[in-house]
Amino acid sequence: MIGRLQKRLTQLLLVFAVTTGVLLVLIYFHYAAQFPRESGVIRHILLVEYVYLVAMFSIIALLLLRSYEKRRDAQLESERQRRRLQDEVAAHERTNQELQRAKEVAEAANELKSRYVVGISHEIRSPLNAIYGYAQLLERNSPVDPVDAVRVIRRSSEHLSDLVDGLLDISRMEGGVMRISRDTIRLPDFLQQIVDMFRLQAEANGLNFIYDQPEYLPAYVNADQKRLRQVLINLLSNAIKFTRHGEVRLTVRYRTQIAHFEIEDTGIGIDEEDRNRIFEPFERGNQEAARMAPGTGLGLTITKLLVETMGGELTLHSEVGKGSRFRVKLMLSSMLSSDTEEDVRREILGYRGRRRSVLLVDDNPSHIGLMRGTLEPLGFDVVWTSDSAMVNLLAAQYRPDLVLLDVALGGPTGWDVADGLRAMDIPDLKIMMVSGNAHEYAIGGAPGMPHDAFVIKPFDVDVLVDQVGLLLGLDWTYAEEIDGVVNTSVNETITLSGSSRRYLDELYQLGRIGHVRAIEGKLKEMVAADPESEAFVSRLGDLIANFDLKTYMNMLDEVRDDH
Ligand code: ADP
Repeated sequence: MIGRLQKRLTQLLLVFAVTTGVLLVLIYFHYAAQFPRESGVIRHILLVEYVYLVAMFSIIALLLLRSYEKRRDAQLESERQRRRLQDEVAAHERTNQELQRAKEVAEAANELKSRYVVGISHEIRSPLNAIYGYAQLLERNSPVDPVDAVRVIRRSSEHLSDLVDGLLDISRMEGGVMRISRDTIRLPDFLQQIVDMFRLQAEANGLNFIYDQPEYLPAYVNADQKRLRQVLINLLSNAIKFTRHGEVRLTVRYRTQIAHFEIEDTGIGIDEEDRNRIFEPFERGNQEAARMAPGTGLGLTITKLLVETMGGELTLHSEVGKGSRFRVKLMLSSMLSSDTEEDVRREILGYRGRRRSVLLVDDNPSHIGLMRGTLEPLGFDVVWTSDSAMVNLLAAQYRPDLVLLDVALGGPTGWDVADGLRAMDIPDLKIMMVSGNAHEYAIGGAPGMPHDAFVIKPFDVDVLVDQVGLLLGLDWTYAEEIDGVVNTSVNETITLSGSSRRYLDELYQLGRIGHVRAIEGKLKEMVAADPESEAFVSRLGDLIANFDLKTYMNMLDEVRDDH
């Protein structure tokens, strides 16, 4: 632009110089002819005039050019500023949008948390009310049947315990502290057990149960047996729960170390808008039939988290009124054989060597009771306290081999107490932390940590015993090593009618997978079908009420053999 203007001005200057020159020459000739004597002066004046005019013109052109350049620079600068401002405004808008998004995410998380808390309170309130109400009635000697009252209290407690277990599972999985064990599973037997159990349940509900087995299944695979069972049980019990007519089908396929489990039903199906929601805690389907069915709304949340924690994938296809299909895809590495008979847990009776002592520190008397009930029969000397101030005193007096220390004590925490114990320098003292808060989990035995092991409440008693054995390096003695010590057999002959006998297999299968509620239902059916079996049913019922599945199975085994 500037180049063009410069060229133009130069051209103009040339034209101006030439025309002015020609004009002045003409003027010169004109006046030189009139005044020949003054021609020298005229030439001189005209020449000066010419130089002056050309110089003026050049200066004006230069000034014009300069002012144009300045204006253009100013324009460019203001254009640059405008663009910078626009960029800044756009950046602000982007930041604003991101902030807005972050705010929405935080609000959604907050809302979810509130919903969680409301959901939990709501879920806890009704069983708690039942327990509270019946406990008060019993206390006041009101005319309620104590058996009924205790049954309601037990059922409600079970429901609460399911809820707490479920929530803890979710919390452990979300917090990444869920430990997945690598058990050796006899896959065909494992699946058959589950199939046997659900076939019974499905048939009892008038449904057809189909087990579509693969041609090839590895004999042994590596996986967390308890968790895998939990996944299949959750999906199959839902399939049965939400299907009124037709069939429930379990299809299993296994290829290149990947197992596919498909649980398909011809039930009520799931609305499109529910298909994601039902995997959230406490969310249940909107259909009337779904809302009427009992449940906590935690099953699918746990199932999905479990599958994902095991590195797998859970997908859902469903059509309202036609049915649902849940697919689980999991890597289950196969093994050629197993040296371990993982299903059979030998009953521990005690340990060899000197008596070991254990100090229990927990402000909850029922947990102390549970741990004493577990450890004392195995030959441990157990002292306990709920008062953290007493711990050092008791430790100095009894010199325990192991301290089981609750993290959440009133006053100083379990961690402070553990530090205090370490400062006492008791030789070979082992400390096991116990906590109901999975987020506190910290593997023990690391340098700088006061504890040697950590267990999360509620714990499996067998797991606690195993941990104690490992920590103290114990050499356990087992039931079958000591003749005649364990005798859980039924010492009298039981005769059952033909109609009762058909229940034995079903009760046995349910016992194998520990499905306590289904066993209770089956026992009721059995006594209704054959009132003579009442004594037998009530003994089994007592064993189940005490969760003594081992004696329950032994009893059934013997009766089945006799028949
Ligand atoms: P719950 O069964 O205790 O309600 P879940 O988390 O297991 O909790 O299931 C959540 C919801 O998903 C159920 O309430 C039901 O609406 C829906 N659902 C789960 N499985 C099925 C199924 N097989 N068919 C139809 N609806 C299902």
